[in-house]
Amino acid sequence: MPLLMAFSGLLVAAALIRLTNFLVVRNKSLLCPYCQTPYKGLFVLKGLCPSCGAPYLIPYVMAEIFTPVIFVLIWQNFGFAIYSAFALLYSTAFMALFLTDMSYKLIPDAVVYPAMVIAIIGEALRSSELGNHFLGGALSLLLFLAFYAFGQAFMRWKKVEEVAFGMGDVKLALLIGFILGYPEGLRALLAGVLFNGFVALAIIVKGIVSKRLSPFTPFPYGPGLILSFFIFWLLV
Ligand SMILES: [Zn+2]
Repeated sequence: MPLLMAFSGLLVAAALIRLTNFLVVRNKSLLCPYCQTPYKGLFVLKGLCPSCGAPYLIPYVMAEIFTPVIFVLIWQNFGFAIYSAFALLYSTAFMALFLTDMSYKLIPDAVVYPAMVIAIIGEALRSSELGNHFLGGALSLLLFLAFYAFGQAFMRWKKVEEVAFGMGDVKLALLIGFILGYPEGLRALLAGVLFNGFVALAIIVKGIVSKRLSPFTPFPYGPGLILSFFIFWLLV
């Protein structure tokens, strides 16, 4: 059974890569943004464009590694239960958001809102303390709205075009806070923020080293939050 879960995870990842790409850029095949060569195979095996070697496939490779692992962990955590079906559904939604945010810096409402509905039904099935989930969701929403307001103020102050933090991240935080409940949801989100801080620092250091420093380069915030969610949900 774990092998079957791993294989379905790989298939779901392959399908998600095509689907999210189609939803965002309306392209049936993945096009290299550097040389415009379409990528044909079903699975993305290497992280680089087969034609020019640009690293645009890296998010897809990550999805093809993480999705099978997550599917196996869901099986190990929840077993043969109705909740597992819901868990698989919203994990798929999270991986779709992982891909759209990492590749296009987008967290589409068309994925977040259905995921919220599925999550409410799923958690109602699993937990008798639904109030705790709503509390976790509400506090996460407030915390991330504060981050969002701070980001907007910073943007006006420094006159930068774009900050890392968008309204999509606020909705994502609400979803994560709801599923994990209080206080687990806040813990996972703060760990995600910390993780993103390290990534931002690494980007800045890399910028200084390569002398192309731009400390306000926005980077996608969602993938770090999503990975932190999966760790707290399935491993902690
Ligand atoms: Zn290329």
